[in-house]
Amino acid sequence: MTTRFVASYPTQNLCPTANLREYAFIGRSNVGKSSLINMLAGVEGIAKVSQTPGKTQTINYFMIDETWYLVDLPGYGYARTSKSNRKAWGKMIEDYFIKQLSMQCAFLLIDACVSPQQPDLEFIQFLGGEGIPFAIVFTKTDRKKKGVDIEENIERFKAKLSETWEQLPTMFVTSAEKKVGKTEILSFIQSINNRK
Ligand code: GDP
Repeated sequence: MTTRFVASYPTQNLCPTANLREYAFIGRSNVGKSSLINMLAGVEGIAKVSQTPGKTQTINYFMIDETWYLVDLPGYGYARTSKSNRKAWGKMIEDYFIKQLSMQCAFLLIDACVSPQQPDLEFIQFLGGEGIPFAIVFTKTDRKKKGVDIEENIERFKAKLSETWEQLPTMFVTSAEKKVGKTEILSFIQSINNRK
């Protein structure tokens, strides 16, 4: 597998136009997105290439096998402030998902170490409402911490989704630390790429 960083774009309208299929990775800040992308790309540190802390957040494109794009989107907020009614993610992310037509599947990363979080559930409602195809990726499933039950968190998340969804999305259980889930995610992407 070959991987190379392409470019970072500040807004959707500057992103590459529909010639290659692309797959977006998104989640709350600190969910383990960089670690997961590094694992998938097989290149340690590649997901940090374009991300200088404190800099303006960008949409980062990586070319995989010269055939498809892996797209690293900015992490969204931990929670909304109680006062404002603003979403935890911004217009850049919304524009990307609504307008970037070559986007095949959004991989929404969910930290398996915590119980279901409101911003994540709201983001799923957004994706569902817009009819955007997505899959769930549970991260950090190797983590052993007192009082944290990974299995239970995953089950609670599924139960939460079942309240509003008749059919659950495709789900992946991963660990960048233990290199779990790489083959599964890449095969899933390959199966979509193989479609005519
Ligand atoms: P990002 O902000 O979403 O890009 O998250 P990072 O990839 O930078 O990871 C955030 C923190 O979670 C770091 O301290 C990582 O070491 C840790 N982390 C990420 N993936 C895993 C994992 O699979 N297992 C464990 N135990 N920790 C992880």
